Amino acid sequence: MGGVTVIDHPLVRHKLALMRDKRTSTKTFRQLMRETAGLICYEVTRDLPIEPVEVETPMGVAHAHVLAGKKLVFAPILRAGMGMLEGMLDMVPSARVAHIGLYRDPQTLGAVEYYYKAPEDVAERLVVVLAPMLATGHTALAAVDRLKEHGASEVRFACIVAARQGLDTFAAHHPDVAVWTAAVDAGLDPDGYILPGLGDAGDRMYGTR
Ligand code: URA
Repeated sequence: MGGVTVIDHPLVRHKLALMRDKRTSTKTFRQLMRETAGLICYEVTRDLPIEPVEVETPMGVAHAHVLAGKKLVFAPILRAGMGMLEGMLDMVPSARVAHIGLYRDPQTLGAVEYYYKAPEDVAERLVVVLAPMLATGHTALAAVDRLKEHGASEVRFACIVAARQGLDTFAAHHPDVAVWTAAVDAGLDPDGYILPGLGDAGDRMYGTR
């Protein structure tokens, strides 16, 4: 599959503008992250297979459709990915969750793993990795590496802001993994932060700094 989809829906643009604003409070930022994740979920799942069913309504029989394909796993990369999880689960409440703990080594900007826990049947599921900022791409590709090592064969990636350079790095390693993002920003600073981005997503969500 692969490729990058930029979600330019007006609601997503509006919420992202508020998230970028440095004056936005921690509480509002967290709420916006959840809402935006829900809207992104809508696009990430747009092509899920469905099958026809007949449903008896109080008035008669309706010809309806239900999801028919692989079950989902949402895989937030700790800690900032947690900010997207509830918004995704609002849309797909029956999805399972895989937690992946990775942090960026401040010197090398490489990804260091400290936690991994996924459902045993991850190989049979469609995995949607969640991380608000796809910056250098190192953390994103390490998370997907780990999931693939555990058998995941169908993986998608959802973020809020991606850097062009990070998208290129990610696509070079995982050309089969499609990415959905609300924006593609131009650059990275020497510490690997996206410019203009929205700052440190985890700090802004949890009020740490
Ligand atoms: N992680 C963040 O939270 N923000 C960035 O800009 C890059 C990585």
